[in-house]
Amino acid sequence: MNIFDNLLSNVSLFKNRDVLRHTYTPDSLPHREEQINQLAILLSPLLRGGTPSNIFIYGKTGTGKTATVSFVGRQLEEASRKAKQNVVVHHINCEIVDTAYRVLASLARRFGSHVPMTGWPTDQVYDEVKKVLEKNRARVLIVLDEIDKLVKKAEEALYSLTRINSELSNSSISLVGISNNLKFKEHLDARIISSLSEEEVVFPPYNAEQLEDILRQRAELAFNEGVLEEGVIQLCAAIGAQEHGDARRALDLLRVSAEIAEREGDTKVRVEHVKKAIRKIETDYMIETIRTLPVHSKLLLYGMSLLSDVSGKFTTGEVYCVYKKLCGKVGVDPITQRRVSDLISELDMLGIVNSVVISKGRYGRTREMRLEADSRQLREALERDYRLQSLKEVANNFRKTNLESWIWSG
Ligand code: ADP
Ligand code: MG
Repeated sequence: MNIFDNLLSNVSLFKNRDVLRHTYTPDSLPHREEQINQLAILLSPLLRGGTPSNIFIYGKTGTGKTATVSFVGRQLEEASRKAKQNVVVHHINCEIVDTAYRVLASLARRFGSHVPMTGWPTDQVYDEVKKVLEKNRARVLIVLDEIDKLVKKAEEALYSLTRINSELSNSSISLVGISNNLKFKEHLDARIISSLSEEEVVFPPYNAEQLEDILRQRAELAFNEGVLEEGVIQLCAAIGAQEHGDARRALDLLRVSAEIAEREGDTKVRVEHVKKAIRKIETDYMIETIRTLPVHSKLLLYGMSLLSDVSGKFTTGEVYCVYKKLCGKVGVDPITQRRVSDLISELDMLGIVNSVVISKGRYGRTREMRLEADSRQLREALERDYRLQSLKEVANNFRKTNLESWIWSG
């Protein structure tokens, strides 16, 4: 028997799993008609050879900003061909293209110029951009997605982009800035704000009903008929609505639920799969959060995971004892109990630890805490840090002795 036979004989739940990926943009976007119309009206001057106002878009993550702007951009390019205009929509993800130079270089390269991604003086790239735009009689719409990720230095470039039109005659640049961070504007230079947000479009969070519509539309494309059990879409939508109306979160949940059902060889995606998916996504999120923590926080968490196996709850003092011991094992100098206390507060805020301050009568106050994460999964996540890898053995020995003797042993 071929090892793949089993895998292939399973009936597939999916008709097309790609439509659940982040990169997929649907052909219609329910509950964004208003924003689509607004954008179309604001951008329509491009089709008559004019220059529209710059637009600033904001709304929380997963409210459909990127999808909507991509959709409108595609329609705009299509319409411009009919209108005999050279409208080019240049979508830039500022998390990746994060400096002034790169924004300009990527634009020049879009028109076939051989500007290297580093190395030239910025002025030279700027001149090259002007040259190629004029030559191509291009009306460019630059979408600066996640504009809050542009580094501070890039502000000058933003400013020069907003001013460039006065130096162009046959071509123009208009800007659409997209931000998840509503406070972003407070940090910007006033002259940039005023030219960047001549017009504003707001993307409000989706409610549970709207998310249900979005999920249903996607599920129809993604799954074979009758595959989703009653209640699956509702639960995914409800969770997405709790997460500040986040369509991405809801879609991820649906995808992961289906993957779990598939792995279990089930013929249907059921509510119980969604519940497992919620836990899996939370774990993935935890692993991602942990990855970026300072080593002392990681050691504290490692200690807590050991304590947690002994008893569900523990105090700052106990955590500090185990932490110091672990520091010795990995060759890191321990920090003071006071600073440890601050780090614990931080872990509490991240939702990995849950702590309460309790009064011990005349013995003062102490903090008691428990882990919000599964201790074994937490250790696995922490051991991904090479500095903590040697603790695997420590954890094994720990299990064989009791806490007191372990702390006092060599
Ligand atoms: P944002 O850019 O605001 O963070 P996205 O545009 O990336 O959000 O949307 C997140 C996910 O949800 C994407 O997969 C997108 O296709 C989907 N989505 C968002 N809004 C809608 C909608 N109204 N209809 C269909 N899918 C949507
Ligand atoms: Mg986005």
